[in-house]
Parts: sequence; C-alpha cells; structure tokens
Amino acid sequence: MASIAVCPGSFDPVTMGHFDIITRGAKVFDTVIVAVLNNQSKKPLFTVAERVELLKEVTKNIPNVEIDSFNGLLIDYVKRKNASTIIRGLRAVSDFEYEMQVASINRKLNHDVETFFMMTNNQYSYLSSSIVKEVAKYHAPVTDLVPDVVEEALRKKFSINP
Ligand code: ADP
Repeated sequence: MASIAVCPGSFDPVTMGHFDIITRGAKVFDTVIVAVLNNQSKKPLFTVAERVELLKEVTKNIPNVEIDSFNGLLIDYVKRKNASTIIRGLRAVSDFEYEMQVASINRKLNHDVETFFMMTNNQYSYLSSSIVKEVAKYHAPVTDLVPDVVEEALRKKFSINP
C-alpha cells in the first residue's frame, strides 16, 4: 500500500526549514501532503490561499508533494486523506514538550496514525516563520532563510503594510 504522510503547520510563510523537512519527508513517503492549518485563533500575515500558493511554487519540482489546507482536528483530516503518518520537524528541546503532547493526544484519538519526527538540519535550527517576519518587517534581508518567491512576497507585504 502506498504510504501517505501529512505534514501540517501554519507555514506563515514557508521557510527553508520547512522546505528541508518537506524535501526529506518526500524521500521517505510515497506522497507527502503539506496541509496549511486554517487556525482562527492566530492572526496570520499571509492568508491561507497565499500560503498555499507559496508552498505550491516552492515545492513545484517535488512530484510526490501535494499542497492543501484544512480546518478542525488534524487527526480527522489525516483519516480523510487516507494517510497513516503525521510528519513534524523538531528544532530544539523547546519544541519537544509541545510536540510530545500533541503526538500523545493524536495517538489517543487514533492508534493507527503515527507521528514521525524529523530533526532539523543544523543550519536551520534557529529558523521559524516568526523570526523571518520580524526580520522582514524591518526590511532586513531574509535571503537564505526563505525561498526567493517568499522573500519577494514578504517584501510586497511589508511595503504595503509597513
Ligand atoms: P505550527 O504552528 O504547527 O508549529 P509551523 O509552520 O511553525 O506550524 O511548523 C510546521 C512544522 O515545521 C512543525 O513540525 C515545525 O516543527 C516544523 N518546522 C518549522 N521550522 C522548522 C525548522 N527550522 N526546522 C525543522 N522543522 C521546522
């Protein structure tokens, strides 16, 4: 049976850290569905549609990666997609506690779905969407932290909304 994994997140916006995890995940699973969470409680910089578009552009050369978005419980979405695995990236020990909580509750909700953790590439261990937005907001360069299309999108966002 083909292995399908869901890589969920906010991706507001996608960074080189995300791209690294997606690329490596795509070598392990037959299909990786990158799913943008439509989280009403966070105030995002990019709309879900914009985040999906950026992810599509960034992953266009990886044939077994699909981009989607979802509302509600992750575990329900995973089942709807006939996936058996959730991919999450781990940066530092600080990520661990929260991720363990989420993986444990997801396992309680559905024993058939495994969470698969991937260690960050060392060069991206400090990298998050929040850090990138903070740097870009003050018009400092974010080259090497995000793909080129994302850098361009950030530039546009902050020139309209300085
Ligand atoms: P969330 O709000 O669900 O944490 P994010 O967009 O911040 O969504 O992250 C999505 C996934 O990518 C998470 O598993 C996160 O740990 C992982 N991730 C984010 N940045 C990095 C990075 N620099 N290296 C490895 N994994 C990362």
